[in-house]
This record gives sequence, structure tokens and C-alpha cells, in this order.
Amino acid sequence: MAHCDTLISAPWCITMDPPGTVLEEHAVAITDGRIEAVLPQAEARDSFEPGQRVDRPGHVLLPGLINAHTHAAMALFRGFGDDLPLEAWLKTRIWPAEQQWASAEFVRDGTALAIVEMLRSGTTCFSDQYFFPEVVARTAADMQIRAVVATPVVDFPTNWAAAANEYLEKAADLVHDPYAGHPLISTAYAPHSTYSLSDESFRTLRVMADQLDVPVQIHLHETAREVRDAIADTGMRPLERLRELGLVNRSLLAVHAVHVDTAEIELMAETGVAVAHCPRSNLKLASGIAPAAALREGGVTVAVGTDGPASNNVLDMLKELEAAALVAKVSTGDAAALTARDALAMATIDGARALGIADRTGSITPGKWADLVTVDLATPNSQPVYDPVSQIVYTARAEQVADVWTSGRLRLDRGQLLDVDAASIVSRANEWQQQIAAGTRT
Ligand SMILES: [Zn+2]
Repeated sequence: MAHCDTLISAPWCITMDPPGTVLEEHAVAITDGRIEAVLPQAEARDSFEPGQRVDRPGHVLLPGLINAHTHAAMALFRGFGDDLPLEAWLKTRIWPAEQQWASAEFVRDGTALAIVEMLRSGTTCFSDQYFFPEVVARTAADMQIRAVVATPVVDFPTNWAAAANEYLEKAADLVHDPYAGHPLISTAYAPHSTYSLSDESFRTLRVMADQLDVPVQIHLHETAREVRDAIADTGMRPLERLRELGLVNRSLLAVHAVHVDTAEIELMAETGVAVAHCPRSNLKLASGIAPAAALREGGVTVAVGTDGPASNNVLDMLKELEAAALVAKVSTGDAAALTARDALAMATIDGARALGIADRTGSITPGKWADLVTVDLATPNSQPVYDPVSQIVYTARAEQVADVWTSGRLRLDRGQLLDVDAASIVSRANEWQQQIAAGTRT
């Protein structure tokens, strides 16, 4: 008998290796934070002497969900300025409020609130773009959730930095260098959008991203207006301008990609650009519906993200992947477009690929970190079970997420968050709400 730290048994195990695989009556053995073996339960009983045995009848075990794009700290702006189009929302509500309130403490408290919500709804990894990224990285590491911390770059001053060079250098000193090789945190550069950086800033960013060997992610072709304005200002569509600047390659993650044509889909597939699809944010801001099925069929890796909780307004990947499947069907007029299996792949293994971390997470594969989730399918709304993948995408709610492990460490135990004082995090969020509501001019 071999020792393993934890042995998890469930009637269904969705490994996503290869995508869509459902194993019945299997067990997953974890040792030193990593997946050691995936094997039939009868065999596991004879082979492993576990330190901890976790049996979950009626549950499905799957890889932790990957939120490929968010702005976690904006949880403190949840519900602040709803029902506005993107430009008006940014200019009249979000940017002035960020100027007034964004600080290290704001980012710490907002990110912590977001992480509580994400862990409870089955997310084990999130990719974040926000100011004070060093605080995001520290908060994620402290709360033991995997994160890709993408450091913001814009040409205008904010509370974190004054100009593009300062954003780039500060990020290198505070985030990219100190977190290189960190087991939970990886990093990226996040120029906000093509309309917020000059060509010169993009050139400097390219040199620094290459030197530090970090990928780049950017909001791209989010609205029709963004594309129209770019043509008016530069004579080029945003993707075309990025290509001229040498940034269209496999290190690029295009967030949104709502307004892309066939030639652009081909270019992204050929060059290895990945897409983070954020359907609920695109719906709420009336930005449009990204052609996720066409992107996938064209060979582009498509991940799913919630976008920030100020434009969603939740960080619930179960809702997001259901939305991804549904909007693909209605926008193509084809109920077979983007199946439940496709949607779940986008929220797990393809999310990991898009973020460049598929060697670490995204599937239940021996050798990868044990980032795992169980979901209770015994609840009436998920019964009976013909296909656990369909139940995850079309029936499961966040409340059904029972257990969550990140790097083999149990973070949620039958619905109870461990080692996190959620009540005090919520109470700090309420203090911020009172300050912001009292102090913001409308
Ligand atoms: Zn965003």
C-alpha cells in the first residue's frame, strides 16, 4: 500500500483529460499538493493508504473552474452604476470613483471579498487586472487561491502610477520579479486597451514583457464603437494596430473579442492569440455577443471570464459558462453550437491554456496541482443525472459547490470556507459601501 495525503471518491469524475471525459466510480489520490493518480475506486482501496479519505456520494468531482478575466477588487463597486453603456459607465461612474477610492486598502478588501465569492462558487484560479496588483498577488497567495496577476498599464495617471513607464517598471519590481516561480501566482502585463496606450508605450511594453517572459492581456474589440473610433483615430482596427506593433502572437490574450470578423478569427488562430469570452458582462453592457463557437471552430483557444463584478455583477463561473452556452446558441440560431462539453472545457482546460498555465492546472491529470471541486448533484434541481456535464452547465448553482481544493489544500469543506474570516471581510465591504455612497457625487 502506498501512502497518499488525500483520496477523494465520487460517483462521477470529469477529468477534462481529454475534454469531456467522465469516469464513473473513480478516485483521485493527492500527494504533496499534486494529483498522484486517477483510478477506479476498487483499485484505489487496494493501492492507497490515505492520510485523509473524502467520500462524496451523489457528487461530481471536476477540475476547479478558471475565471480567465476579472477585476476582483471592483467587488466593492458591485451594483454601483448599473444600466449604462460601457463608455458612459466608465467615464461617469467607474473612473471617477476609482480616482477617489482606489487604494491599497480598497484593493485588499475588494479582492478578499471577491476571493470568498469565487472559492464558494468553485473557482480555483482567476486572472485579474487591477491597480495595486502587488496587493492582489499578496491577497490571493494569503487566501490560497491560484491567480494570474496581470499588472495594469495606461498612459494616464491613476492612484497607482503616473505614466506608462512607471506602470511597467513598478509592476516588474513589485509583481513580476518577486512572484517569478511562485507556486500559486503567475503574472502578466495588462495594457487596458488600444485606446489607452500610445504606440511608444506599446513598444516599451513589448520589450519589457519579452525580457521578463510574461504574457500580455488586453481588452480588445469589446464594442463596435471601440473599433469605429480606432479606425477614425489610427486608420486601423485595434487588432491590426497590435499586429503592426508586434504584439499579435501566442503570448496575447484578447479579452472580449466581441466584434471580430472572419479574417480576424483566422489571424488569431494562425498566430495563437487566445480569447477570454465574458458573455454576461457583454450582455449587461450591451456590447454584443462574441462569436465563441466560430472562434473555437476556427482553432482559437477560448476561455471564459466573468469580467469585473461591477459589470456582471457576480463572480460565479457556473452562471458564466451557462451564459456562454446559451448566447452561442441564440446568436448563431443553432442549438448545437457550443455544447455543455465545450462550455466546461472553456472554463477549465482551455482557460488554463489561454492563461499559459495548462502545465499546472485545468484538468485532473497526474502531475498537475490538485485544483479540484466537488458539486452536489443530489439536489432536486439537478436530479436525475443522465449526464453530469450537462448538470454542471445547465442546472448547478453556486450553493451546490461542496468542496474546493487548491494545490491539494482544502479551502471549502462541504460548503464551509476554511481559514478565512468571511464575516469580517463582508463587514469591511459594508464599511466601504457606506463611505462610497456618502462621498461620491452622482
Ligand atoms: Zn475587463
